[in-house]
Amino acid sequence: MTPASAPFLIVAIDGGAASGKSSTSRALSERFRLMHVDTGSFYRAVTAELLQRGVQADDTASVEAALASLRFSTRLEGRRAQMEISGRVVPDAEIRTPAVNAAVSPFSAIPALRTALLAYQRGQAEFARSQGFRGLVMEGRDIGSVIFPDADFRFFLHADPAERARRRASEGQQDSITERDRLDSSRKTAPLTCPVGATDIDSTFLTLDQVVDRISTLLAPRLNTP
Ligand code: C5P
Repeated sequence: MTPASAPFLIVAIDGGAASGKSSTSRALSERFRLMHVDTGSFYRAVTAELLQRGVQADDTASVEAALASLRFSTRLEGRRAQMEISGRVVPDAEIRTPAVNAAVSPFSAIPALRTALLAYQRGQAEFARSQGFRGLVMEGRDIGSVIFPDADFRFFLHADPAERARRRASEGQQDSITERDRLDSSRKTAPLTCPVGATDIDSTFLTLDQVVDRISTLLAPRLNTP
């Protein structure tokens, strides 16, 4: 258990679709024993829930009404923070469908939806502390720019679109990553962008281990682990 006085570290990892954020964040969470928070899975879970209720992204009033009835909490699975919506974790099989892939960016552009998730995401730091973690690694699109602009470390991953499409296809997923990136980068609220001062890493020609090693070299002195 980490003493309450120990410094708590926040590592923010942003990047486009299939840029390697999740694999990198998972590996860092294992290497440094940090809690792992995949905020993309939060947006996906909310999208799946709204679709299931028959709510469409272009009907903002219905989105807002539905959001008001959702209760968010967190369940820890290993080192991963899983979002519960009204007490239920929406399983991976339901959040990584072609329907959610297609709808998640339009839903994520709705300011009310982002506001509904803002405090919940920030609250993950307190949750991680309460579970004895010495820090967390949080991945998404706006972590270093909006959620934790004062994070101890901020990284932005990018890779050539063809390489990203290859990675996604190798996972057997049907996903328009270029279209999602276009929507995520052009929205008014919290667009996908490399925040000023973040470390930009192009992973096109790097293996996962190389990316993780590069980041680990920067984290190790603060986290005191090889
Ligand atoms: O990370 P992943 O590709 O699973 O994210 C799915 C979608 O969730 C993104 O395309 C984006 O629209 C939305 N998202 C977001 N802000 C975050 C994380 C994800 O808008 N912090």
